[in-house]
Amino acid sequence: MQRRKFLALSSLSLSTITFSSFKSIAPIRKPIVISTWDAGIEANKAAWQILRNGGTALDAVEQGVMVTESSQNCCVGLGANPDRDGFVTLDASIMDHQFNCGSVAFLERIKHPISVARRVMEKTPHVMLVGEGAQQFAVAEGFKLEEKKLSSEAEKSYQNWLKKSEYKPIINIERTKGENAFAPNKLETGEWNHDTIGMIAMDGNGNLSGSCTTSGAGFKMRGRVGDSPIIGAGLFVDNEIGAATATGQGEDVIRICGTHLVVELMRNGLHPEEACKKAVERIIKAKGIEKSKQIQVGFIAINKQGEYGGYCLQKGFNFAVCYADDKNFLEDGKYIL
Ligand code: ASP
Repeated sequence: MQRRKFLALSSLSLSTITFSSFKSIAPIRKPIVISTWDAGIEANKAAWQILRNGGTALDAVEQGVMVTESSQNCCVGLGANPDRDGFVTLDASIMDHQFNCGSVAFLERIKHPISVARRVMEKTPHVMLVGEGAQQFAVAEGFKLEEKKLSSEAEKSYQNWLKKSEYKPIINIERTKGENAFAPNKLETGEWNHDTIGMIAMDGNGNLSGSCTTSGAGFKMRGRVGDSPIIGAGLFVDNEIGAATATGQGEDVIRICGTHLVVELMRNGLHPEEACKKAVERIIKAKGIEKSKQIQVGFIAINKQGEYGGYCLQKGFNFAVCYADDKNFLEDGKYIL
C-alpha cells in the first residue's frame, strides 16, 4: 500500500516537474502585435512591417494606429463623428518599455494625435497636454492644422443626430450586421456610437509598447475625455509583465483603472485572457449587472511570453492578432453577459 502511494506520488510530482519545466522553456512568441476591433487588421499590417524588420515596438504601435487615424473611420481620426457641438475632438496615448508615456486629449484639427502624444512623451517634461495647449504644441512641432471641416459622412451623421439630439449609447452599434457606423441606416437615425484603436506589441528584443487613439464617443458633450488618453485606464505597459489596452465606454474603464488592473493581474500570474476577464468582472461589480448590460467594454493584453487574450462585457467585440507574415487574424472576444 505504502509503496503504491509512493509510486503514485512520485509519478505525480514527475509530471508536475515535467509540465512546469516544459512551460518555462516554451518559446517566447515574438514579435507580436494585437489591436482592437477589425480595423486592427490593417493597422497590424503596418505595425508588422516594422516588427518583422527588427524595428521597435514603439515605432510599430505608432505607425500601426496611424493607418486607422488616416482612414475615414467613423470613430478614429479627423473623419470621425463630432461632439454635440459639431467638432471632432481626439484623444490618444502612447507608452514605451521604460514607463515613458505621452498623451493628448480634446485635440482638434490634427490628423495624427498619436504622433503628437509621442512628441509629448519625448520632447516635454509632461505626460499629458489637452485642448488648445495640445494643439499649439502640435503646430509648434510642425504638425499641420487641418481645415475645420467634418468629413461628408460625419456631416450627414451629425445632421441626422441633430434631429433628436439625444445622447444615446447603443452597444456595438458599429458592428451590427457587420456594418460600420456610416452605413446608410445609421446615417438615417444618427445613432450614437463610439470606437477606438488600441494596439500593444512586443518587438524582437522582447520590449513592449502600446498606443491608443480615438474620437471618443460620437455626439459626446463638448470637452468630454474618455479613457484612451489616460495612462492606466485606456493603456498601460509594464515591460517586466505585459501590456493592455481598452475600448468601449471610457467612463467605466477609468473608474476601475482598467488596463493598470489587467497588468497587475498578469503580475499575479494570470494569463492575459484571464486578467482581461477579471477586469471586466470588476466593471460589473462596480456597476451592477443591469447597468452593465447597457454598455460595452473590451480589454486586450499580452504578456512577456507573447501570450495574448481579450475579454469583453457583451458579445460583438473582436481584436486582431499578428505574429507572422501569414498570421494576421481576427479573434472574437469572449464575453460575460
Ligand atoms: N474608449 C473610448 C472612449 O470612451 C471609446 C471607445 O473605445 O469606443 O473614449
